[in-house]
Amino acid sequence: SDIGSQRDRVVTQEEWLQKWEMGNIGFHKEQGHPLLQKHLDVLLNGRSGLRVFFPLCGKAVEMKWLADMGHSVVGVEVSEQALQEFFAEHNLPYCEEPVPEISGAKKFQSTSGNISLYCCSIYDLSSSIVGKFDGVWDRGALVAVNPRDRQRYVSLMITLMEKNSSYLLVTVSYDPNKHKGPPFYVPESEIKGLFG
Ligand code: SAH
Repeated sequence: SDIGSQRDRVVTQEEWLQKWEMGNIGFHKEQGHPLLQKHLDVLLNGRSGLRVFFPLCGKAVEMKWLADMGHSVVGVEVSEQALQEFFAEHNLPYCEEPVPEISGAKKFQSTSGNISLYCCSIYDLSSSIVGKFDGVWDRGALVAVNPRDRQRYVSLMITLMEKNSSYLLVTVSYDPNKHKGPPFYVPESEIKGLFG
């Protein structure tokens, strides 16, 4: 298929941690993502006080936006550095605690209580740990997941969604024969297959 050359590629967690250490984080958008602003009404769908999930969150500034609008935000990220930078760059006081259900994981929570960021692999989470969500902002997440893990990732995401939730997904359209990524190329047909 057209994504044959990418299908077997793997970016390890070690490599992600290294990117953060080296400051090799070209994916981070300091000004936030214009597509969230553009489609915010789809995410909110007239509702207030939502629980919004940020898979593979990095230090996405959109988490601060949504928290400031009165929503509660949960993120997950393997890099502790990313999460510390998030709180530092927004001058947000936070506390840190272990997650009893996940060995080695930590939860960073803003003192105000409306931003909870889990430092662990997303595959360690379940709805019994983080609950279910009214909205998902998936930018740099599905497209960062290793192609062989996509089905597992999407199946997990589906278990984390409330009945009437909205899921905003950002992908990048390009010729996968000419570029090896990142991010990975996820064709629309595959998205339809994954999410049904
Ligand atoms: N969504 C963010 C970051 C995108 S880059 C943004 O829009 O800026 C992808 C991020 O996922 C990286 O910060 C990487 O460290 C993290 N990551 C990669 N694999 C992960 C996993 N299995 N679980 C949690 N985070 C992961």
